[in-house]
Amino acid sequence: MKRENQATALNSVHGAIEDFMRTGGQGFNPSAMGVGLVGHVDATAGIWRHWVNLPIRTPIPLAAQLETRYHLPVALDNDAQAATLAEMYLGVGRETEDFIYINVGTGISAGIVCNGQLVRGASNYAGELGHMMVDPEGPLCPCGRHGCLETIASGGGLAAVARAGLADYPDSLLQDVARTGRLSARDVFRAAAAGDPLADAVVERAVQQLERALVNLLNLLNPEVVVFGGGVVSDGWLVERLQNCVAQAPPPVQDGLRDFALSALPVDQVGLLGAAMLAWTMHSERKTPHG
Ligand SMILES: [Zn+2]
Repeated sequence: MKRENQATALNSVHGAIEDFMRTGGQGFNPSAMGVGLVGHVDATAGIWRHWVNLPIRTPIPLAAQLETRYHLPVALDNDAQAATLAEMYLGVGRETEDFIYINVGTGISAGIVCNGQLVRGASNYAGELGHMMVDPEGPLCPCGRHGCLETIASGGGLAAVARAGLADYPDSLLQDVARTGRLSARDVFRAAAAGDPLADAVVERAVQQLERALVNLLNLLNPEVVVFGGGVVSDGWLVERLQNCVAQAPPPVQDGLRDFALSALPVDQVGLLGAAMLAWTMHSERKTPHG
């Protein structure tokens, strides 16, 4: 996605929609459009408000703009909320009304469903687990604070912490990868599995801080099921490691927790399924188009 400024970011959104209409959208006649976006979205008003990592500085009435451009009713929401809707209607939500969907990918977010309702908060900003502070001495986060979970345990965070440690580990397996400029969380996991001390320290720190945040969440919300999605956890071993945090929760919370596992929804499709659910729920609630 091009994101030099607001205009190029918007052009990328239009490009993605038109690509999809051309390729994936053949053979059916859409009656509504759902768009999951990073950052803060006012889902009721259809406004993309801002994101710390993108030059979205002025709120954009994107739903109204897309309705004018594509002649379809449009539902917007934050991508994590959209993915949680996919879990609600197509995934674990078919078995429970109290669950948390945790996405560990480029960033970290939690979708919270209590009593069958998606928890949005007063500003549709609930579930920003990535900005839960877990280490006040930790790395600076784009949000302006230090030691947010995302800076240590997200895909970008793991890679950044590893890069910051290279100077202290001249013999690390990650030195060669770092020289290519493409050091990723996957490289860190691979090196840790091969016994690399730097990678191991980075992974252990991420696991420890994820556990800390998850125990807090379990205590706060007493979920029946916790499911994980996102590229960083997609091969399953990290979720296995995180099972330890269940034993740290108090007995009533442990008794209520029926499942703690990887999501059954395909990691590369949950975003699209979420966007489809946005359009579907808007359509089924018979909301009028924006604008
Ligand atoms: Zn932060």
